[in-house]
Amino acid sequence: MQYYNSIVETIGNTPLVKLNKVTKNIKGTILVKVEYFNPGNSVKDRIGIKMIEDAEKAGILKPGGTIIEGTSGNTGMGLALTAIAKGYKCIFTMSDKQSQEKINILKALGAEVVVCPTNVEPDDPRSYYSVAKRLNKEIPNSFYPNQYDNLSNTAAHYETTGPEIWKQTEGKITHYAAGVGTGGTICGVSKYLKERKPNVFTLGIDTYGSVFKKYKETGIFDENEIYPYLTEGIGEDILPKNVDFNLIDLFIKVTDKDAALMTRRLAREEGLFVGWSCGAAVYGALEYAREHLKDNDVMVIILPDHGTRYLNKIYNDEWMKNHGFLEAEFATARDIIKS
Ligand code: PMP
Repeated sequence: MQYYNSIVETIGNTPLVKLNKVTKNIKGTILVKVEYFNPGNSVKDRIGIKMIEDAEKAGILKPGGTIIEGTSGNTGMGLALTAIAKGYKCIFTMSDKQSQEKINILKALGAEVVVCPTNVEPDDPRSYYSVAKRLNKEIPNSFYPNQYDNLSNTAAHYETTGPEIWKQTEGKITHYAAGVGTGGTICGVSKYLKERKPNVFTLGIDTYGSVFKKYKETGIFDENEIYPYLTEGIGEDILPKNVDFNLIDLFIKVTDKDAALMTRRLAREEGLFVGWSCGAAVYGALEYAREHLKDNDVMVIILPDHGTRYLNKIYNDEWMKNHGFLEAEFATARDIIKS
């Protein structure tokens, strides 16, 4: 018989797929690693199991314990899957800009979700970072993975995502691009690849409203760079320990609108029904590729999650119009008849 002992054994070994249409007039081979093939539909399943198993080994997490994490949704899902397999409870704190779908998914998996305001300082007691830390202090036998500063996050990608990409490209990879949130995905993979091939060029995709790009270029943590933005999962107003700036050669910032429109193109032109940060990663990576890639170059871009979580946002025409993101060519027949 051919079966897995639990769903968590299906994490990883996601496919690499060539982009064919959105890469028109760009040289080289551009491949995407489609992380929605993980059982929780995101790249974060990889760190969920790794952070839990490392905590067990270190004796920080004991049987019957409660896992408490601040999460944009995907890490919660990854933690919840492993927690179910191993019998732990989960409480997640989320900022109120995250989609309702993400909250509902976590509840569906039996987790308790605490929604916190987005537009407060990270050290404000109401922020989702602070609430998670407080719950961890007050709830006995609880474990706060802290995906931002827990280096098991980067290690998960060093041990799984990196080797997969190396093997799948037969070591031919020349460029690697990923959105940067906690930094685990970009840095774990970059470390693995650069150890084998130091000249692999790594591109971190950042958002407007985030501190990363300016910090890389000037070494200054500039608070003026921080303002609200909409793309979920990438960009930060803190410097997580998982971001090793030496492992990221260049940051490119992508607007919410460019990211949203590219995400919709990936669905319609490539059949890749993916999440908002995927559009950001592809838009930013192609901007670089258009200028710099040569015929024999091989670029791999990480696509972190699935489109279902964004159906009421970027895949909703009304929502797109209300945010001024929808271009005229997307006007529906009904709109034309009305005018
Ligand atoms: N995209 C999405 C949708 C995410 O949830 C995350 C995780 N915050 C990222 C990108 C960025 O990945 P990382 O945290 O490993 O930098």
